[in-house]
This record gives sequence, C-alpha cells and structure tokens, in this order.
Amino acid sequence: MTTAFFTHADCMDHITPAGHPEQVARLQVINERLSQDQFATLSHQTAPMGTVEQATLTHPADYVAKIQAACPAQGHVTLDGDTHVCKDSYTAAMRGVGGICAAVDMVMDGTAKNAFCATRPPGHHAETQTPMGFCLFGTVAIGAKYAMEMRGLSRVAIVDFDVHHGNGTQDLVWNDPRIMFASSQQMPLWPGTGEASETGAHDNVINLPLKPYTNGVELMTAYSRDIFPRLAAHKPEMLFISAGFDAHENDPLANLNFSTDDFRQITQMLCEFAEFNCRGRVVSTLEGGYDLPSLADSVAAHVKVLMEHAQ
Ligand SMILES: [Zn+2]
Repeated sequence: MTTAFFTHADCMDHITPAGHPEQVARLQVINERLSQDQFATLSHQTAPMGTVEQATLTHPADYVAKIQAACPAQGHVTLDGDTHVCKDSYTAAMRGVGGICAAVDMVMDGTAKNAFCATRPPGHHAETQTPMGFCLFGTVAIGAKYAMEMRGLSRVAIVDFDVHHGNGTQDLVWNDPRIMFASSQQMPLWPGTGEASETGAHDNVINLPLKPYTNGVELMTAYSRDIFPRLAAHKPEMLFISAGFDAHENDPLANLNFSTDDFRQITQMLCEFAEFNCRGRVVSTLEGGYDLPSLADSVAAHVKVLMEHAQ
C-alpha cells in the first residue's frame, strides 16, 4: 500500500499579514520537497472541501458560520492577537477539515496504509467556540470524531508533538472517553496550558510538559515512560498525529532542541506503535513549524517514515 498525501492550492490563499510566521511559504517548501524523486510513490490527493456536517462534529454550527462570516472581502480581520482571516481563509481551513476526513476514509478503505495532510491554517489551538493561535477549526479532533461517528471506530488516539500545547484539541476531546489525547509541549510557553494535572473528564488526556532546551532523546524517553503504555492500554483503532515541527532547534518561536532526525525517530516510534496496536492506521496532519528549511527537512523525514511503514 501507499502513503496518501493530501493538500490543496486553496491552502495557499490563506494570506497572513506580512511577517507572520504562519505563512504561505511553509506549504510551498513542503510541496517542493515532497515533489522530489524519493517521494514519487506518494499517493497525491486533492483535499476535498470539508462540510459543515464535518466541522460540527466538534464545533457548534453558529461558530462555523461565524468564522465564514468573519472573512472580509479584502484585507485582513484579526480574530485574536495572532489569528487573522482574509477572503479565502474559511475555504482554506475547510480544505483541512475535508482533507483529514478523506484521509481517514482512504485508510479505513484500505486504499492507503497511512496519510499525511499538509494544509493550513493549522488546527490544534482552535477551541470549541474560540479561534486562536493561527487556528480556526480543530482539524485533528474533527478527524478523530469522524473516524468514530462516520467510520464506526470505537476508540482512537491523538498524539501532538508540536512545541505548543494542543489546547484546542484538548478542549474538543475533554469529555470524550473514546479519544485518548497525548500532548507534549514546552512549558512555560504560550498558550500556558498543558500541565500534567490536566487529565480530561475521563482520564483521557495526557500532558507532558517539557523544560526549555529539552532534546529529542529526552522526549523519546518520556514518551516511552509516560505516553506509550497508556496509549496501548486505551486500545486505539487509529492513531492521529498533530505533527508540528516547531520543537526543532532552529525554530524561531520556541526553545526545544529537537533535530530533524529526532522527528524521524519519534515518527518511527509512533508508526511502530500503530503497527502493533492499530493495524498501522496513522493519519497525520501538519500543525506548526516556522523555520522554513527545518520544516521542509522535518516533514520529509516524517513522511519518509510513513512511506516505509506503508510498504
Ligand atoms: Zn506550535
């Protein structure tokens, strides 16, 4: 089987103000890298438009309508300090929603072993009724709910290795015992949540705060000790990854010290977990990562491992 790669040109039309780190160029460098010969066997897929029905798996309908209505005919509207929308932002975010649901479909149908979705804006900071941290819709949580509500799975897991806490995902899955959410993040760091004491309404949330300058070896040791045993006990039928690459040592927004090879290794650990526990079903979606060369390198390392596990 193959690894499905979902993206869409509409995700380039989400234009952020000049100097904003969450910029169009992020997707350009990823697309350029994944066009190289070594990725020729990727199954390239066009992310379909998400539907309101999909977005309302986690958000109220009036919130979805509010985001659509907030997009101005020209220029930008600022929704919070660093979250902006332009004319095409709703469409771009909906490509993320549709992309992850289509990725779930391909993996469930057996037309792909696993999938990576490179869409923007990212999603893991969007809370039930609050856009924040560059994010509009909780893409990965929507994918997780879709896998259960529409594809019949009983239990899933989400692992978020973005350097920032996945506060939005946590908010969206807090009350759902079918979803185990594990998030590692630098602390202290924006958004300020993600203490180990935040455990979900059903003990279904695992937070792994990391001190500044934590390296990848320390991260993987902590995952082996604190996350994988509990994920295995949850018996997930599909593993979702909130793949943010801003824990890279070169990233301008934070202070963790992961190398590109650390992203390869953590992906390897996650894929091996999925092989053993959930038939290799992995759906990964892009979150952060703001140093462009390091982002391209790290995504390439991540996708290469997905492809090796799809063979
Ligand atoms: Zn981040």
